[in-house]
Amino acid sequence: MFENEIIIIGGGLSGLTAAYLLARQGKKVLVIEKKSYPFHRVCGEYVSNEVKDFLIREDLFPFEHNPPSINRFRLSAVNGNHADFPLELGGFGISRYVLDHHIFQKCLEQGVQFLQKTQVIDVRYESKKHCFLVETNDGTILPAVFVLGAHGKRSKIDKKLDRPFIQKRSPYIGVKYHIQAEGLEDQMVALHNYNGGYLGINKVENGHFNLCYLGSREQLKTSGSIAAMEETYLYKNPHIREIFQNAHFLWDRPEVINEISFATKQPIENQILMLGDAAGMITPLCGNGMAIAIHTAILAAEAFRENQHLTEIQEAYQKNWNRYFRKRLFLGRKIQQLFGAPLVSSLAVKLLQSSTFLSRQLIRQTHGTPM
Ligand SMILES: Cc1cc2nc3c(=O)[nH]c(=O)nc-3n(C[C@H](O)[C@H](O)[C@H](O)COP(=O)(O)OP(=O)(O)OC[C@H]3O[C@@H](n4cnc5c(N)ncnc54)[C@H](O)[C@@H]3O)c2cc1C
Repeated sequence: MFENEIIIIGGGLSGLTAAYLLARQGKKVLVIEKKSYPFHRVCGEYVSNEVKDFLIREDLFPFEHNPPSINRFRLSAVNGNHADFPLELGGFGISRYVLDHHIFQKCLEQGVQFLQKTQVIDVRYESKKHCFLVETNDGTILPAVFVLGAHGKRSKIDKKLDRPFIQKRSPYIGVKYHIQAEGLEDQMVALHNYNGGYLGINKVENGHFNLCYLGSREQLKTSGSIAAMEETYLYKNPHIREIFQNAHFLWDRPEVINEISFATKQPIENQILMLGDAAGMITPLCGNGMAIAIHTAILAAEAFRENQHLTEIQEAYQKNWNRYFRKRLFLGRKIQQLFGAPLVSSLAVKLLQSSTFLSRQLIRQTHGTPM
């Protein structure tokens, strides 16, 4: 038996949850994470209640941080016209800084091993020896019986594995701030469109709000700076302008990422079970990428619990992944096309204003049910 039965590449929500569940099954798990906990990452930090019962059941819910409940949704068009709806299932707000660190600590309690500040640069499957060889940036090569890819939406390792989606550049960037502000509703998640993208805002722990947007790489390039881009494009939506003008920004600069791609991926590639965004990313406007990441980890852990051999584990995982996520990710891609353009987003708001049925369907079809 190898020292590492399972190596997990990446310790975001999918990697951490899988590590926790697999360690509870008695497996020897090593997570390799390129950063070190706790750390901020670009994310809207609205967690769908799909996973709340699961987190409570598994002792992973961060009760001590008192995450605010969110049960209302506001959608505004580029011109500021808006519609409000109740969220049937709802969610809660919590920063990734807190949530990921919380689950990391729970993993340590279960005996999960971590290599932090370490990047996986290559993975090879040796079919004759039935083992994986995982190479890290310091030149170490670690053998493992199984490897899970939980390295998020886009990583250097995807290039090395020659995954098809990596060939195409993506036009999207993500920008995140934490702010304090008066006059924002505590229990509301709002999605404000602007010409080129959309911005989400909701409360997280400590009375802070997360302000995060999906924007355009091209607009940033032509504006020359984030601040200039915000003034030129985002402020055209009066809701966004008001939020920025009344906000007290808690950091010197925002967290920024680029190359956010919603391209189709496969849940198994190069013999590796891909979890969370590494298997496919739902558009942020659906507000449940984190729930999906956790759900993929649950499916992977189930596949390991019920099977022993790599091919059986792969088959079980692939079957369930397709069952739960293929349609949701497809719909998410279609809905994404409705947003960020003036006419379309205004029509979408008008349609949803006039039809409670439609707004419910839109939210239901992209969301799962509680686990
Ligand atoms: C702008 C924006 C807003 C969003 N808002 C929301 C929201 O409000 N609600 C919601 O539910 N979802 C939201 N999402 C989606 C959500 O953030 C993701 O779906 C979720 O984080 C996926 O989790 P993951 O575990 O797959 O990946 P991640 O959380 O991205 O974790 C991947 C980890 O792998 C590490 N890593 C990468 N490559 C390597 C390597 N080679 N070696 C070692 N480590 C590596 C990274 O450092 C990272 O820690 C948003 C996404 C974006 C872009």
